Amino acid sequence: MTLPGSPFLAYRGKELFLDDCSLDELASRHGTPLYVYSQAAMLDALAPYQRGFAGREHLICYATKANSNLAVLQTFARAGCGFDIVSGGELERVLAAGAAADKVVFSGVGKTRAEMQRALEAGVLCFNVESEAELEVLSQVAVAHGRTARISLRVNPDVDANTHPYISTGLKGNKFGIAHDRALETYRRAAALPGLEVAGIDCHIGSQITAHGPYLDALDRVLDLVEAIEAAGIPLHHLDLGGGLGIRYTDEQPPSADTLIGHLLRRIDERGHGHRPVMMEPGRSLVGNAGVLLTEALYLKPGAAKNFCVVDAAMNDLMRPAMYQAYMRIEPCRLRDEPASTYDVVGPVCESGDWLGRDRELAVRAGDRLAVLSAGAYSMSMASNYNTRGRAAEIMVAGGQAHLVRERENPAELFRGERLID
Ligand SMILES: *Cc1c(COP(=O)(O)O)cnc(C)c1O
Repeated sequence: MTLPGSPFLAYRGKELFLDDCSLDELASRHGTPLYVYSQAAMLDALAPYQRGFAGREHLICYATKANSNLAVLQTFARAGCGFDIVSGGELERVLAAGAAADKVVFSGVGKTRAEMQRALEAGVLCFNVESEAELEVLSQVAVAHGRTARISLRVNPDVDANTHPYISTGLKGNKFGIAHDRALETYRRAAALPGLEVAGIDCHIGSQITAHGPYLDALDRVLDLVEAIEAAGIPLHHLDLGGGLGIRYTDEQPPSADTLIGHLLRRIDERGHGHRPVMMEPGRSLVGNAGVLLTEALYLKPGAAKNFCVVDAAMNDLMRPAMYQAYMRIEPCRLRDEPASTYDVVGPVCESGDWLGRDRELAVRAGDRLAVLSAGAYSMSMASNYNTRGRAAEIMVAGGQAHLVRERENPAELFRGERLID
């Protein structure tokens, strides 16, 4: 039996395997909660992007925030990817993982002067600038340090990506990007400011997008702008079309990356922009279905209205259900030949929002391990220490071996930087 989402995750007999590793065995060896990733599944998700762009000048910039473990970043760096970063912290991470700075694009609405300075010193490929005020500050920082900042403006194409409101970013009411009708004027300002070099144009309309229509709408709006900006005498080089391609959590049917890129490149060619290098910034679609979160059932708590299965993973380990009411499949690491009951799978944190799944049919007993599927993206990278819970350990399965790529945090580490008052 293969589970939807990843060809690397399947039951062999009664036991759930990720890429030749028994998940129950990994949980026994390393404890729970435990994140387990498959490197092969990540490279398999990257392949359709590479196929889609074959023969074209392009750069695939993995969106670091989706999963920023160093071994994950190293995997994509070695596969030739660049990186999309949104903070100075992420810059240090990608450099530590072996990324070339000249393949890094720096996005985000609130870059500080210190972050700009460090990114200029490192020599990042491009700043994706999100406001007119940021443009002025970046110019000042570049001049003060005798550098030139290559820039794209992140424009807001005002298209609806039809996704959850918290992960929709390309609408007028969103905080992201520069309004479509301000873009030309802002490019004029950018071209006139010292210390800046206009390099391209950028958009990113949201996340977990499951159709190609919104991408083509955004592309058309961006190409309209490119034509207007170049007609005003400001040459542009690359097109950065952002990330956002969705994955299958349950029954979604997103287009494959090569299909999506085929549509985009055809439209780019039809409109006479085929000479431009194209960049994309995928995050979720490269790692989401390459990881699982393993957790142990601690207590079964039957009730009149609901049955609860209390597990040892919580919202601090996995925020997506609490934050976006996200549905993530939950499957036993070992199947039982027993009738299933309906449970809410909940964590130990003192919040009613602390649930991982609602109304799930499970044949489970205390002590059993469960796997939360599709937990490779926006899962560990959003983990916190709420309730003074140490963050989970992470395993990367690569070359047939399970590598511990992040140690479990212990309580002493959690308050190491804190001080008592005399
Ligand atoms: C988060 C983000 C991405 C990646 O989005 P996914 O939905 O994970 O593909 C790309 N670009 C920018 C600017 C982002 O903020």
